[in-house]
Amino acid sequence: MILEITTFDHPALRTTGTRVEKIDDRIRQLAADMIETMQEAEGLGLAAQQVGLPLQFFVLDVPQMKKRPSAMRVKGRPVDFESLMPLVLINAEVETFGRIHIESEGCLSFPEISADIPRSLSVRVKAMTMEGETLEFEADGLLARAVQHELDHTRGGLFIDRVSLADRAELPEDIRRLSRPAKSL
Ligand SMILES: [Zn+2]
Repeated sequence: MILEITTFDHPALRTTGTRVEKIDDRIRQLAADMIETMQEAEGLGLAAQQVGLPLQFFVLDVPQMKKRPSAMRVKGRPVDFESLMPLVLINAEVETFGRIHIESEGCLSFPEISADIPRSLSVRVKAMTMEGETLEFEADGLLARAVQHELDHTRGGLFIDRVSLADRAELPEDIRRLSRPAKSL
């Protein structure tokens, strides 16, 4: 089922997610619906906050792209991450490392906007999968960026909070009012 995507000042977007302790039928249905919604909207990721549910839960569907490549490693070995997509990550813990890259980013909750956002090139992730197993991996590039973007959502953060001071002035007034640059994510 296609779910309605929350936008702009919807309170769920500012709500820190609670942990998902059990994979039950409700969570299985949510995962299926969020994947369908993300794919229909042609997004690379979607967090539960974006369908109105404050949970530590997000889905990703990141393709390998020539211009914005990604990589994934499990136990130090490269893996074909595209074969794992769409990927559901639950209660994700993320450590960032590597250089900071500034690249253009969008968000399904802000359909008209894209902005240059600084993010670490790489992430180390530990999360629960839909099978209830623990998945640990490292990712670089666009995939690492998507993980950081979705992780922000699960903590009530938004990409507009990370826009540089100079770029913030160029955001439309109604969007600028919604950004919370002082809050650390
Ligand atoms: Zn987003």
